[in-house]
Amino acid sequence: MTAGDPASSPTSEDERWMARALALAERGRGLCSPNPMVGAVVVSEGRLVGEGFHARAGGPHAEAEALRQAGDRARGATLYVTLEPCNHQGRTPPCVDAILSAGIRRVVVAAGDPNPRVRGGGARALRGAGLEVLSGCREDEARACNRVFIVAMERLRPHVTLKCAMTLDGKIAAVDRSARWITGEAARLEAHRLRSQSDAVMVGIGTVLLMTRRSPCASTRRGHESRCASWWIAGRGFRSPRASSIPALRPAPSSRSRTRPPPSASRGWRRGV
Ligand SMILES: [Zn+2]
Repeated sequence: MTAGDPASSPTSEDERWMARALALAERGRGLCSPNPMVGAVVVSEGRLVGEGFHARAGGPHAEAEALRQAGDRARGATLYVTLEPCNHQGRTPPCVDAILSAGIRRVVVAAGDPNPRVRGGGARALRGAGLEVLSGCREDEARACNRVFIVAMERLRPHVTLKCAMTLDGKIAAVDRSARWITGEAARLEAHRLRSQSDAVMVGIGTVLLMTRRSPCASTRRGHESRCASWWIAGRGFRSPRASSIPALRPAPSSRSRTRPPPSASRGWRRGV
Protein backbone atom coordinates (compact mmCIF):
# COMPACT_ATOMS: atom_id res chain seq x y z
CA MET A 1 0.00 0.00 0.00
CA THR A 2 1.38 3.43 -0.87
CA ALA A 3 1.21 6.54 1.28
CA GLY A 4 -1.32 8.09 -1.05
CA ASP A 5 -3.59 5.08 -1.01
CA PRO A 6 -6.87 6.12 0.62
CA ALA A 7 -7.06 2.74 2.37
CA SER A 8 -3.75 3.39 4.16
CA SER A 9 -4.80 6.50 6.07
CA PRO A 10 -7.81 7.03 8.32
CA THR A 11 -10.67 9.31 7.22
CA SER A 12 -12.24 11.89 9.52
CA GLU A 13 -15.11 9.44 9.91
CA ASP A 14 -12.63 6.77 11.06
CA GLU A 15 -11.12 9.20 13.57
CA ARG A 16 -14.56 10.02 14.94
CA TRP A 17 -15.59 6.39 15.50
CA MET A 18 -12.20 5.55 16.99
CA ALA A 19 -12.66 8.40 19.48
CA ARG A 20 -15.85 6.64 20.57
CA ALA A 21 -13.97 3.33 20.91
CA LEU A 22 -11.25 5.01 23.00
CA ALA A 23 -13.88 6.52 25.33
CA LEU A 24 -15.33 3.03 25.79
CA ALA A 25 -11.87 1.58 26.53
CA GLU A 26 -11.47 4.09 29.37
CA ARG A 27 -14.42 2.52 31.17
CA GLY A 28 -12.23 -0.49 31.93
CA ARG A 29 -9.53 1.58 33.64
CA GLY A 30 -8.59 0.06 36.99
CA LEU A 31 -10.87 -2.93 36.39
CA CYS A 32 -9.40 -5.19 33.70
CA SER A 33 -5.78 -5.58 34.87
CA PRO A 34 -3.59 -7.40 33.95
CA ASN A 35 -5.28 -7.16 30.56
CA PRO A 36 -5.17 -3.98 28.44
CA MET A 37 -8.12 -1.63 28.21
CA VAL A 38 -9.90 -2.07 24.90
CA GLY A 39 -12.96 -0.46 23.34
CA ALA A 40 -14.72 -1.46 20.10
CA VAL A 41 -17.58 -0.20 17.96
CA VAL A 42 -19.29 -1.76 14.96
CA VAL A 43 -20.51 0.69 12.30
CA SER A 44 -22.80 -0.27 9.44
CA GLU A 45 -23.68 2.24 6.72
CA GLY A 46 -22.60 5.12 8.93
CA ARG A 47 -24.59 3.98 11.97
CA LEU A 48 -23.44 2.53 15.27
CA VAL A 49 -24.83 -1.01 15.58
CA GLY A 50 -22.75 -2.41 18.44
CA GLU A 51 -20.19 -1.36 21.02
CA GLY A 52 -18.29 -2.86 23.90
CA PHE A 53 -15.29 -2.61 26.19
CA HIS A 54 -13.17 -5.02 28.18
CA ALA A 55 -14.52 -4.78 31.72
CA ARG A 56 -12.59 -7.50 33.56
CA ALA A 57 -9.88 -10.09 32.98
CA GLY A 58 -11.58 -13.33 31.98
CA GLY A 59 -14.67 -11.46 30.76
CA PRO A 60 -15.63 -10.91 27.11
CA HIS A 61 -13.22 -8.92 24.98
CA ALA A 62 -14.44 -5.58 23.61
CA GLU A 63 -14.75 -6.91 20.05
CA ALA A 64 -16.81 -9.92 21.16
CA GLU A 65 -19.21 -7.71 23.09
CA ALA A 66 -19.59 -5.21 20.21
CA LEU A 67 -20.19 -8.04 17.71
CA ARG A 68 -22.71 -9.68 20.03
CA GLN A 69 -24.68 -6.41 20.17
CA ALA A 70 -24.46 -5.94 16.41
CA GLY A 71 -25.67 -9.46 15.58
CA ASP A 72 -26.52 -9.80 11.86
CA ARG A 73 -25.90 -6.09 11.35
CA ALA A 74 -22.16 -6.81 11.61
CA ARG A 75 -22.25 -8.42 8.14
CA GLY A 76 -20.38 -6.11 5.77
CA ALA A 77 -19.77 -3.58 8.58
CA THR A 78 -16.63 -1.86 9.84
CA LEU A 79 -15.16 -2.73 13.25
CA TYR A 80 -13.22 -0.02 15.10
CA VAL A 81 -11.04 -1.38 17.87
CA THR A 82 -8.45 0.40 20.02
CA LEU A 83 -6.02 -2.56 20.17
CA GLU A 84 -5.18 -5.18 17.57
CA PRO A 85 -7.61 -8.11 17.91
CA CYS A 86 -6.20 -11.25 19.51
CA ASN A 87 -5.68 -14.41 17.48
CA HIS A 88 -4.92 -16.81 20.32
CA GLN A 89 -7.04 -18.80 22.70
CA GLY A 90 -6.88 -17.21 26.12
CA ARG A 91 -9.55 -17.34 28.78
CA THR A 92 -11.91 -16.39 25.94
CA PRO A 93 -11.88 -17.50 22.25
CA PRO A 94 -9.78 -15.54 19.71
CA CYS A 95 -11.43 -12.31 18.57
CA VAL A 96 -10.14 -12.84 15.02
CA ASP A 97 -12.41 -15.89 14.70
CA ALA A 98 -15.41 -13.92 16.00
CA ILE A 99 -14.70 -11.09 13.53
CA LEU A 100 -14.49 -13.48 10.60
CA SER A 101 -17.61 -15.41 11.48
CA ALA A 102 -19.56 -12.17 12.04
CA GLY A 103 -18.88 -11.14 8.44
CA ILE A 104 -17.03 -7.88 9.21
CA ARG A 105 -15.58 -6.43 5.99
CA ARG A 106 -13.18 -3.77 7.29
CA VAL A 107 -11.25 -3.46 10.56
CA VAL A 108 -9.73 -0.19 11.77
CA VAL A 109 -7.18 -0.62 14.58
CA ALA A 110 -5.67 2.12 16.74
CA ALA A 111 -2.55 0.38 18.09
CA GLY A 112 -0.81 -2.94 17.58
CA ASP A 113 -0.87 -5.38 20.50
CA PRO A 114 2.67 -5.59 22.03
CA ASN A 115 1.79 -8.90 23.69
CA PRO A 116 4.24 -11.44 22.18
CA ARG A 117 1.30 -13.84 21.72
CA VAL A 118 -0.30 -11.35 19.29
CA ARG A 119 2.20 -8.76 17.98
CA GLY A 120 0.94 -8.37 14.40
CA GLY A 121 -0.59 -11.85 14.23
CA GLY A 122 -4.15 -10.59 14.63
CA ALA A 123 -3.89 -8.08 11.78
CA ARG A 124 -2.09 -10.62 9.58
CA ALA A 125 -4.79 -13.22 10.11
CA LEU A 126 -7.52 -10.73 9.21
CA ARG A 127 -5.71 -9.57 6.07
CA GLY A 128 -5.02 -13.18 5.15
CA ALA A 129 -8.75 -13.84 5.27
CA GLY A 130 -9.33 -10.99 2.81
CA LEU A 131 -10.48 -8.25 5.19
CA GLU A 132 -9.34 -4.66 4.75
CA VAL A 133 -7.28 -3.71 7.82
CA LEU A 134 -6.19 -0.17 8.61
CA SER A 135 -3.80 0.31 11.55
CA GLY A 136 -2.62 3.44 13.35
CA CYS A 137 -5.89 5.40 13.65
CA ARG A 138 -5.43 7.55 16.80
CA GLU A 139 -2.48 5.34 17.72
CA ASP A 140 -0.84 7.82 20.12
CA GLU A 141 -4.00 8.15 22.20
CA ALA A 142 -4.47 4.38 22.27
CA ARG A 143 -0.88 3.79 23.43
CA ALA A 144 -1.21 6.50 26.09
CA CYS A 145 -4.41 4.88 27.34
CA ASN A 146 -2.62 1.53 27.76
CA ARG A 147 0.81 2.76 28.82
CA VAL A 148 0.86 0.53 31.91
CA PHE A 149 0.22 -2.59 29.80
CA ILE A 150 2.65 -1.43 27.11
CA VAL A 151 5.50 -0.82 29.58
CA ALA A 152 4.95 -4.31 31.02
CA MET A 153 4.96 -5.95 27.59
CA GLU A 154 7.70 -3.97 25.84
CA ARG A 155 10.10 -3.27 28.72
CA LEU A 156 9.32 -6.30 30.87
CA ARG A 157 8.93 -4.25 34.05
CA PRO A 158 6.06 -2.68 35.98
CA HIS A 159 4.91 0.85 35.19
CA VAL A 160 5.67 2.87 38.33
CA THR A 161 3.92 6.02 39.50
CA LEU A 162 5.65 8.01 42.23
CA LYS A 163 3.31 9.93 44.49
CA CYS A 164 4.78 12.20 47.13
CA ALA A 165 3.52 15.31 48.85
CA MET A 166 6.15 18.04 48.76
CA THR A 167 6.37 21.58 50.03
CA LEU A 168 7.36 24.42 47.70
CA ASP A 169 10.90 24.27 49.10
CA GLY A 170 11.20 20.58 48.28
CA LYS A 171 10.60 19.00 51.70
CA ILE A 172 8.49 15.87 52.19
CA ALA A 173 8.42 15.90 56.03
CA ALA A 174 9.19 18.10 59.01
CA VAL A 175 12.34 17.18 60.95
CA ASP A 176 10.27 16.30 64.02
CA ARG A 177 7.66 14.60 61.80
CA SER A 178 5.00 16.82 63.28
CA ALA A 179 3.35 17.79 59.99
CA ARG A 180 0.41 15.75 58.89
CA TRP A 181 -1.21 17.25 55.80
CA ILE A 182 0.60 19.44 53.35
CA THR A 183 -1.74 18.61 50.51
CA GLY A 184 -5.25 19.84 49.89
CA GLU A 185 -8.45 17.92 49.37
CA ALA A 186 -8.06 17.81 45.58
CA ALA A 187 -4.58 16.25 45.81
CA ARG A 188 -5.74 13.66 48.32
CA LEU A 189 -8.65 12.72 46.07
CA GLU A 190 -6.20 12.34 43.20
CA ALA A 191 -4.12 9.97 45.36
CA HIS A 192 -7.19 7.79 45.87
CA ARG A 193 -7.81 7.80 42.13
CA LEU A 194 -4.22 6.71 41.45
CA ARG A 195 -4.43 3.93 44.05
CA SER A 196 -7.67 2.65 42.52
CA GLN A 197 -5.88 2.29 39.16
CA SER A 198 -2.79 0.55 40.53
CA ASP A 199 -2.26 -3.17 41.09
CA ALA A 200 0.06 -2.59 44.02
CA VAL A 201 0.97 0.25 46.37
CA MET A 202 4.45 0.28 47.87
CA VAL A 203 5.30 2.23 51.01
CA GLY A 204 8.19 2.27 53.48
CA ILE A 205 7.78 0.66 56.90
CA GLY A 206 8.10 4.12 58.48
CA THR A 207 4.96 5.24 56.69
CA VAL A 208 3.11 2.11 57.79
CA LEU A 209 4.06 2.62 61.44
CA LEU A 210 2.98 6.27 61.26
CA MET A 211 -0.30 5.21 59.68
CA THR A 212 -0.78 2.65 62.45
CA ARG A 213 -0.39 5.31 65.12
CA ARG A 214 -2.52 7.92 63.43
CA SER A 215 -4.99 5.58 61.74
CA PRO A 216 -5.87 7.46 58.59
CA CYS A 217 -7.33 5.07 56.03
CA ALA A 218 -5.01 4.58 53.11
CA SER A 219 -7.18 2.22 51.12
CA THR A 220 -9.17 3.33 48.09
CA ARG A 221 -12.15 5.50 48.94
CA ARG A 222 -14.13 8.49 47.83
CA GLY A 223 -15.68 7.23 44.65
CA HIS A 224 -12.91 4.74 43.91
CA GLU A 225 -14.10 1.94 46.21
CA SER A 226 -14.42 -0.66 43.50
CA ARG A 227 -10.82 -1.72 43.75
CA CYS A 228 -8.18 -1.95 46.44
CA ALA A 229 -4.58 -2.56 45.47
CA SER A 230 -2.36 -5.00 47.31
CA TRP A 231 0.18 -3.35 49.60
CA TRP A 232 3.92 -3.83 49.53
CA ILE A 233 6.00 -2.67 52.45
CA ALA A 234 9.69 -1.95 52.03
CA GLY A 235 12.11 -1.96 54.94
CA ARG A 236 14.92 -3.81 56.67
CA GLY A 237 15.15 -5.69 59.92
CA PHE A 238 11.54 -5.43 60.96
CA ARG A 239 8.92 -7.99 61.70
CA SER A 240 6.10 -7.49 59.25
CA PRO A 241 2.96 -6.61 61.22
CA ARG A 242 -0.19 -8.53 60.41
CA ALA A 243 -2.31 -6.63 57.91
CA SER A 244 -5.31 -6.84 60.20
CA SER A 245 -3.36 -4.99 62.89
CA ILE A 246 -2.81 -1.97 60.65
CA PRO A 247 -5.93 0.18 60.60
CA ALA A 248 -4.77 1.93 57.44
CA LEU A 249 -4.74 -1.33 55.53
CA ARG A 250 -8.17 -2.45 56.55
CA PRO A 251 -10.60 -2.20 53.64
CA ALA A 252 -13.02 0.69 53.61
CA PRO A 253 -16.35 -0.58 54.97
CA SER A 254 -18.14 -0.07 51.66
CA SER A 255 -15.44 -1.54 49.44
CA ARG A 256 -15.30 -4.91 47.74
CA SER A 257 -11.79 -5.29 49.01
CA ARG A 258 -9.01 -7.10 47.21
CA THR A 259 -6.48 -6.07 49.81
CA ARG A 260 -4.09 -8.89 50.54
CA PRO A 261 -1.80 -9.19 53.53
CA PRO A 262 1.45 -7.31 52.93
CA PRO A 263 4.27 -9.60 51.82
CA SER A 264 7.60 -9.40 53.55
CA ALA A 265 9.94 -6.70 52.34
CA SER A 266 12.51 -9.21 51.18
CA ARG A 267 9.97 -10.76 48.83
CA GLY A 268 9.14 -7.33 47.48
CA TRP A 269 12.76 -6.52 46.80
CA ARG A 270 13.50 -9.90 45.29
CA ARG A 271 10.79 -9.30 42.75
CA GLY A 272 12.33 -5.95 41.92
CA VAL A 273 9.04 -4.09 42.19
ZN1 LIG B 1 -9.56 -10.55 21.92
